[in-house]
Amino acid sequence: MLTSYKLIYTLTLIFLGLYISLTNISNLQFKKINVISESKYEKIHEKEIVSSQEKQIHTSTIPESLENSDKDLKEEIIVVKKGQTFSEILDDFLFSFNKFEIINLVNNEFNLQNLNVDQKISFFSDKNNIVKKFIIELDYKTLLVVKLSKNIEITKKELNTLYSVESNEFMISNSLYADGIKSNIPNEVLIKLIQLFSFDLDFQRDIKKDTFVSLSYQKTYVENSEDFSIGDIEYAKIIIGKNTLEYFKFLTNDGFIDYFNREGKNVKKSILKTPLDGAKLSSSFGMRKHPISGFNKMHKGIDFAAPIGTPVYAGGNGVVEYVGRNGGYGKYIRIRHNNDYKTAYAHLNSYKKGISKGVRVNQGEVIGYVGNTGRSTGPHLHYEIIYQNKQINPLTLKLPSGKILEGEELQRFEKNYKMILANHLNNLYE
Ligand SMILES: [Zn+2]
Repeated sequence: MLTSYKLIYTLTLIFLGLYISLTNISNLQFKKINVISESKYEKIHEKEIVSSQEKQIHTSTIPESLENSDKDLKEEIIVVKKGQTFSEILDDFLFSFNKFEIINLVNNEFNLQNLNVDQKISFFSDKNNIVKKFIIELDYKTLLVVKLSKNIEITKKELNTLYSVESNEFMISNSLYADGIKSNIPNEVLIKLIQLFSFDLDFQRDIKKDTFVSLSYQKTYVENSEDFSIGDIEYAKIIIGKNTLEYFKFLTNDGFIDYFNREGKNVKKSILKTPLDGAKLSSSFGMRKHPISGFNKMHKGIDFAAPIGTPVYAGGNGVVEYVGRNGGYGKYIRIRHNNDYKTAYAHLNSYKKGISKGVRVNQGEVIGYVGNTGRSTGPHLHYEIIYQNKQINPLTLKLPSGKILEGEELQRFEKNYKMILANHLNNLYE
């Protein structure tokens, strides 16, 4: 096991160049410290909100140690091919039992229709080529052991697993995904990373060259094997220019795994429904008689009556996409929050200094001031929330709430994130 980890590490080191001086020994020692109960993690996984494919990577033979009675048996490993049925696989072997009897009994424990391409089955035959035992690898740590002696005896075996935390850092020169793969970060981790930051970033457009990424994630190993599965991201940091986005994994009091920044603010951003203080809703979303044209027209935003000069806030974290005159909208700002959401602010009197196209803004930051520009009958803010390029009703918008930790839960989080960070830095630099 250790030799193969060294190999994995060596590859990582070659790619990273910078870390050539790191010792494998300290990382391996760290792994031992981090061994915790696997079952605890499985429970957490079930509640995981960030859904992503839990893919297993198979790199070795099935790690079932031979029992004494099996010593004389010959092992042959079959990797299930596309379109191949279990019955067809059995046809290549000899049994002292009826094939369909075996299939029926196995099917009681594991639905053979769920047999996947690349799944492994080990057959153990005696010197007369009669199969005495076979093992189906159900997942990276669960085996279905079928013994064929006097009877057909089927047992499910859970393998011992070890848990570790892996850390990595890289600069983006091409894309987060491509550079991540180059830095030997598993595909599943990168998918989770992109999901994690999807509330803050539009990965197609926001990521610039020389963006810095630092992360740690869990890996679960099967004892005496090279098989592993990827768990949660524990820590993730992205630095774009002067902006740092940083999240830590945390198990909330409600029992959910979620991500929070150092202040205990949840990664999920809701968009403000009222992007200014003390305003009165003066016109809601929907059909109405236009106050100027007199025609019935769809009102694609909501209006807030407020005195000229009232500060207008960014509805969410994002990048300014448009600042300037925009026909009937008058002085207008549009912010892109991520792939799906944008917000727009119309009839402004003026823009906050520094607000220009491409500038990154945070939720609640002042971007401009209420006015009466464009086709407007009086000082008000016309506010739009745009989902997939279509205006939607902000008042009925259901977005994930951005939970903010407080009290005892915040204290627990703070202790937790300091540990995560210490582990991460220890992994990288010790
Ligand atoms: Zn309006």
